[in-house]
Amino acid sequence: MSRFLGDRLKAIEAYVPGEQPRDRKYIKLNTNESPYGPPDNVVEAINSQEIYDLRLYGDPECRELKDALSRIYGIDRSKIFVSNGSDEVLNFSFMAYGHKGASFADITYGFYSVFAELYGIDTDIIPLKEDFSIDPSDYYGKNNLVVIANPNAPSGLFMPLSSVEEIVKSNPEGLVLIDEAYVDFGGESALSLVDDYENLLVVRTFSKSRSMAGARLGFAFGNAALISDLEKIKYSTNPYNVNRLTQRAGIAALENDKYFMDNCQRIINTRELVIKRLKALGFEATDSRTNFVFVTSERIEGSVYYKMLRERGILVRYFPGERTGAYNRITIGSEEEMNTFIRITEEIMEEVSA
Ligand SMILES: *Cc1c(COP(=O)(O)O)cnc(C)c1O
Repeated sequence: MSRFLGDRLKAIEAYVPGEQPRDRKYIKLNTNESPYGPPDNVVEAINSQEIYDLRLYGDPECRELKDALSRIYGIDRSKIFVSNGSDEVLNFSFMAYGHKGASFADITYGFYSVFAELYGIDTDIIPLKEDFSIDPSDYYGKNNLVVIANPNAPSGLFMPLSSVEEIVKSNPEGLVLIDEAYVDFGGESALSLVDDYENLLVVRTFSKSRSMAGARLGFAFGNAALISDLEKIKYSTNPYNVNRLTQRAGIAALENDKYFMDNCQRIINTRELVIKRLKALGFEATDSRTNFVFVTSERIEGSVYYKMLRERGILVRYFPGERTGAYNRITIGSEEEMNTFIRITEEIMEEVSA
């Protein structure tokens, strides 16, 4: 770091994305990407004309993309925001609504604490229960920026819509942000509450269930006043935040929504099979409603399992720490990848018990 960096930024611990090592070919089960590529119409949408048109700025209002989202989700365009990945909506939300402090879980998406630090926001860190579930009443009456990933990561657990509604109701002076990055894999969306509560923002992404992590496309639902706050920040930082090609890809993807929802079902089926087979090998797994599993075994330390998988060409995500250190988070890949993963886990378990 240079001596020119401001003092406040010097202290910040940046978010660490899942590793992308280049030393060999890995089965990548560490960043919750989809194993399935986008469908042909998305490929065709990024044609040579569109590439030629890169000389032009994209539509800063993202009208066509918002119209497509509006059609799929049955919500008015004025209640939709689109962003450069959902990380950008999260960034904007901490910037916009964090001044009274922020409340979020001790074990959740790691970026929340980074944004809080970045903006000098006081945090109220709320421990998950022993089984990693959320006690909704812990969030009542906070009346600051309440941020909940639902389903949560890395636990994979979800909270029913009725609990989300209680939290929203009990924080009339604070914004409640529900991060639904994984909702398409079996959660319950709070989208239906957006019309009834002015303090609710629902955040989504194309990165997980829509196979487009590399395109950087996120979106959010909230009442029109909240959306105009976010637009104000966007026009004060980066008006062309969603690039031309990503807008085209997003519109094409929404024309073929069934393809993605079928893939989600396929991933859910694989997930249930993986859980069953891991349990047969003595592992415990949380009741995941996401595209990953969160598993532990008394027969192998979390860090050892992580390392042994890595040495055998499989990358998963290990979070050191008192409460998470016994676990690994494993993204659900293709059926074939998960068969290999299970076979290698069987070999590892034989080796450690020998
Ligand atoms: C992956 C993830 C995000 C970030 O998604 P992008 O849209 O790729 O920025 C946000 N929240 C949670 C909980 C995630 O797991």
